Parts: sequence; structure tokens; C-alpha cells
Amino acid sequence: MIKFIVSKFSSFIAWFFDKEKLYKSEYVSDVPKKPEPDKVYILGGAKNPFLSVLRCPCGCGESLHMNLLSSRDPCWELFVEANGSVTFKPSLWKKTGCRSHFHLTNGKVKWV
Ligand SMILES: [Zn+2]
Repeated sequence: MIKFIVSKFSSFIAWFFDKEKLYKSEYVSDVPKKPEPDKVYILGGAKNPFLSVLRCPCGCGESLHMNLLSSRDPCWELFVEANGSVTFKPSLWKKTGCRSHFHLTNGKVKWV
């Protein structure tokens, strides 16, 4: 019985931390001054998103700004999944500072 509880508990912990790490979308009307980690801010609403902002996952504290308008270059495609997690295409690349390069898929960071 105790073993059962321990395994249930550890899978809950794994689930909990896994869940915490997902980048989730949040619609905002202004660029946040201090973006929270694990959040992808979307400006323009669900119908006309034009800019997305997130904090760099490397821990440098800087923000990444992604243009979502296909009329401007470079431009990213943004997908919001049913659970609110976010996918970007193509990969995100910070050309200055920490030079982080990663994929964000279903809210999870995969380093390149
Ligand atoms: Zn960084």
C-alpha cells in the first residue's frame, strides 16, 4: 500500500513539474515590462495577433519579441494548443546577447 502511494505521489510530482515548465499563452494589450517565465504573451488578441513576447528560457532575463505578421520579415507562426501551451515555427533564435537557439513546441523548450 505504501509503495502504491509513493508511486502515485512521485508521478504526481513529475506531472506537476512537467506542467509547470510548459510555456502557456496569455493575451495582453501591451508589451509586459517584466515578462514572467513560462508565459508567451500575445498582442493583438486571438483574431489578429501581431506580436509575441516571452522571456528567454536560458535565464539571461532578456525578452524575445517575435513578429507574427507575414507582411514583415522575419515572421513566426504561432499555434496555441487546447491546453493553452504554445508552439512557434520556425525555431527561435536570439541573434544578440546569449544567442539562445531553441524550438518551442507544445509549450516545451528544445535546445538546438
Ligand atoms: Zn538568453
